[in-house]
Amino acid sequence: MSELLFQSQFSGFIPLGFFLLMLLLQSIKPRRALPEKWAARMLHNALLFVLNAALTRILVPLSLVGVAAWAQSAGVGLFNLVALPAWSSIFLCVLILDFAIYWQHVATHKFPILWRMHKVHHADRDMDVTTAVRFHPLELLLSLVYKAGCLLILGAPILAVLIFELLLFLGATFTHSNLKLPAWLDKTLRLVIATPDAHRAHHSTLVSEQNTNYGFFIIWWDKLFGTYTVVPKEGHLDMAIGLKAQNDQCERVDQMLLAPFK
Ligand SMILES: [Zn+2]
Ligand SMILES: [Zn+2]
Repeated sequence: MSELLFQSQFSGFIPLGFFLLMLLLQSIKPRRALPEKWAARMLHNALLFVLNAALTRILVPLSLVGVAAWAQSAGVGLFNLVALPAWSSIFLCVLILDFAIYWQHVATHKFPILWRMHKVHHADRDMDVTTAVRFHPLELLLSLVYKAGCLLILGAPILAVLIFELLLFLGATFTHSNLKLPAWLDKTLRLVIATPDAHRAHHSTLVSEQNTNYGFFIIWWDKLFGTYTVVPKEGHLDMAIGLKAQNDQCERVDQMLLAPFK
């Protein structure tokens, strides 16, 4: 299988298939009742995603696989300097990249200039799979540059980049879904990964809860650095999702795009 074919399978079919599967599952077994204007909400989130996908393809020539390939050919980065077995390099790089994304997410909450962009994600008045793709294009662009920097420092293998990007997307899609999991499964999964109930606490209107459960995939970092919430104060069914002092100026896609500049 050529690398390109491999990459396209990773970057196309699996994420889209998983996204549609979670969309279906959350409608069969929802955790919370559908909020008002749910169709318009989801439509505008999806529109932002399509716009982001188009903008990235047209305007950003930077590819993370390209960065990893260049680092490998130039012998740049930690993992290109040490001779570890391939599987251990891949495992370690995926783990370290997830750790790096945890800190990126923390930074988007702590630095006002980054929060201006990240609040578009949090302004969603409910949480479902479409929230997973509701990010301002500038935040995605900054994230791409940050990840490229991490890859250069690490000298991560190409396969690690593909696996990491896939896991990040699948993880974010799963954790934002409105899927009701049995309590035992939620508890078991939380030994290693974030779950929808865990990430919902992060979307609380209470800032004290917003500043917890940053993980999109592995949950260890939240447990390790004291940013872990087990259950939101008001409970999953009664908690308010979104931003506390929120008017309804961040619902349409054009409002989402302008929000960081207001
Ligand atoms: Zn956040
Ligand atoms: Zn989120």
